[in-house]
Amino acid sequence: MRTNKHFRPTKAIIDLDAIKYNVLQLKKHIQPNVQIIAVVKANAYGHGDVEVAKAALEAGASMLAVATPEEALHVRKHLPDPDILVLGYSPTSFAEYAANENITLTVDSPNWVNEAKNSCKKTLKLHIKVDTGMHRIGVATEEELRSLYEAIQSSGQFVVDGIFTHFATADEEDESYFQKQVNRFEQFLKILPKKPRIVHAANTATALIKDARLQYDAVRYGISMYGLAPSEYVKSKLPYPLKPAFSLETELVAVRQIGPGESVGYGASYTVDRPTFIGTIPIGYADGLIRKYSGQDVLIDGKRVPIVGRICMDQCMIALPAAYNIGEKVVLIGKQKNEEITIDEWAAKAGTINYEVPCIITSRVPRIYCKKG
Ligand SMILES: *Cc1c(COP(=O)(O)O)cnc(C)c1O
Repeated sequence: MRTNKHFRPTKAIIDLDAIKYNVLQLKKHIQPNVQIIAVVKANAYGHGDVEVAKAALEAGASMLAVATPEEALHVRKHLPDPDILVLGYSPTSFAEYAANENITLTVDSPNWVNEAKNSCKKTLKLHIKVDTGMHRIGVATEEELRSLYEAIQSSGQFVVDGIFTHFATADEEDESYFQKQVNRFEQFLKILPKKPRIVHAANTATALIKDARLQYDAVRYGISMYGLAPSEYVKSKLPYPLKPAFSLETELVAVRQIGPGESVGYGASYTVDRPTFIGTIPIGYADGLIRKYSGQDVLIDGKRVPIVGRICMDQCMIALPAAYNIGEKVVLIGKQKNEEITIDEWAAKAGTINYEVPCIITSRVPRIYCKKG
């Protein structure tokens, strides 16, 4: 007998209404003719690419962006219609697949074009990436941009559908590097004999707090579509409140009382000095609950309790204020009664950024989608 039922109680709850709300709010905030490119790379920052993409499109996004060829093919399999842009590098061997599936690729070198046109004889839409200061991918000089544009135009089957760049410091208060990138982008744009269909530069931070002219034809909406601010600085400047879409829940699977001098977990690293109830929850570092999170609070019965001892591969332990029953709900990320534990709090605990927290929750944790309550 096969079943899709989830037996293990650990699950990520994805609130698709929150995704829609965050897209609708952006739509109200940006210039009326600016398109929204919903960034659903890395399985929609760990939220689930196809479901998030559908919600974003319903709320007014007009295009999707992913990081890799594989991600594009996965989204395309479920969504035959929307434009999908691969933001990262695609090998030339993917060009023919992209053309067949109407997937738009990012390109930054004339050599790529000359090589790809040998294997791909069909119409293929391309966005030119220009490097204005991120120094990751993109054409670096005006000469290169000219020859890349020429190579695409003379290929016959390839089309310059867009041109874009990416900002390194849009989420910071100091604008000097940002402004340098804006100026370089403007210089690059002047070189093109004809404006491509879509010029885009804005990530979430740029779309939310920078000059509206930098929205150009489209903005690439990532982190705040998921209800998270790109940085503390942007958080203090948000033009609308965000609704987080990601919660992480499980249940107690074991409870015991241990006495003074007893320790918890590998290495016996957490020792109690009084009788203490210890609860076990079935989530560990193989689920993305990395060992750095030891000591982080979770919620039970609306109260904060800490993860104690080392986090195991598949389980971890929490210190309980009372003898709760097996099956009692435990919220790791999200709200319970009047308490809330945010992704930002988890990020601070691990010394990282909020982007990383849902991304690293592994596929062993099922994503359960909820909408309309
Ligand atoms: C990931 C990514 C984005 C989205 O960034 P957010 O800060 O999440 O809005 C936009 N553009 C590019 C090129 C990216 O790689």
